[in-house]
Amino acid sequence: MLPPDIQQDILTVSRISAVPSILKVVSELTGMRVTMVSRVTTDSWTACAAYDRAGFGLVVGMQLDLTTTFCKGVCENNRPVIIEHSSVDPIYRDHPTPKMYNIESYISIPIKWPDGGMFGTLCALDSRPMKIDPKVVASLTLFTELISNQLHSEEVHDEIAQRSRELELKIAERTAKLQETVSELETFSYSISHDMRGPLRAMQSFAHILLEECGSQLNDSGRDYVRRIIASADRMDRLIRDILVFSRVGPAGVAAEKIDLQGLIAGILESYPQFDSAVADIRIVGPLPAVQGSSAALSMVVSNLLDNAVKFTPRGTRPAITVWAETVGPRVRVFFKDNGVGIARDQWEKIFGIFYRLDQSVAGTGIGLSIVKKGVERMGGIVGLTSEVGKGSTFYLELAQAEN
Ligand code: ADP
Repeated sequence: MLPPDIQQDILTVSRISAVPSILKVVSELTGMRVTMVSRVTTDSWTACAAYDRAGFGLVVGMQLDLTTTFCKGVCENNRPVIIEHSSVDPIYRDHPTPKMYNIESYISIPIKWPDGGMFGTLCALDSRPMKIDPKVVASLTLFTELISNQLHSEEVHDEIAQRSRELELKIAERTAKLQETVSELETFSYSISHDMRGPLRAMQSFAHILLEECGSQLNDSGRDYVRRIIASADRMDRLIRDILVFSRVGPAGVAAEKIDLQGLIAGILESYPQFDSAVADIRIVGPLPAVQGSSAALSMVVSNLLDNAVKFTPRGTRPAITVWAETVGPRVRVFFKDNGVGIARDQWEKIFGIFYRLDQSVAGTGIGLSIVKKGVERMGGIVGLTSEVGKGSTFYLELAQAEN
């Protein structure tokens, strides 16, 4: 088993796509049938890429005893070694290495890391003697520079990949923490809202009793103050109820079921007095397709949208609302068009924020559209609108279409 850093070096060289062609060209230029890129460390020699058409037995990952190779000297001295005919060469004829590996001709050029340290060598060898032209040495030197540059790119690439892995991990950790905090906050706001309703109910009841039983003993301003207490308590109660609904929209994805959209909307229209035909014209252009989601969540979403559509009409205008659906691939877009006051373009995103309100003259808490957005997103859908001030708005939800 090779050490991990050497395995990494082999991988790096294997990712340099030019290396196999370089080894082949080196073989053609030198006439030597075995060429390689080797990794040379202070104590090891490993073939990182190999081209062998002489049956020398060279394969990637093969390791040789460093002391028996010329590459050790090439790297230590940062100088090429060139041998054209070792058995007659005055320096190398008695050297053990050529005999050991049956080498007559040999060339080895150092390859540097981009920071100047030694990576290894580009070598060629053969059992036959070979004349080596200085131009060939120059070409091989050029190849080593090319490999060195590529090593740099691969290093940068590895570093970027490593950083992006670290970043993804950090994002995942932070998201998990954030989700935990959000769900803690939701539980907290749910329980605190729930607990606040008890004393509030007592205040509402006693204010009513005060008005009914002691109203005659109060003067006009006294009765007005009590009415204001009742109105404020009612408003607070509505606010708390809305917060409760908001925090009750399940923490993760809500359970998916097949919903009869048309039936669900018809049911809502029958249940609330503000949707009565005496008050508003609400037209469903059907049939509406069945969708996938949670009917509890979708009821909240639709009733909030219809409620707003009726509520935000200019004084003296009869609300006219049209509901229809369009199929977009596997999804359904449901539209709610009103003839209301309209919303300026720069407010389209903001109105979905909790407690955000544009019109203080109309009763409300600023939570309705937050419930809509949260509910739709928890069903895997999206919500949006188009609108023009003075001309009305069209809100839409997009949900998955139910399978038959
Ligand atoms: P609320 O209805 O309690 O005020 P919402 O969150 O439902 O709170 O809506 C936020 C604000 O967006 C409203 O106060 C209103 O100004 C604006 N808005 C929502 N729906 C409509 C609509 N259909 N037409 C015009 N304005 C709207």
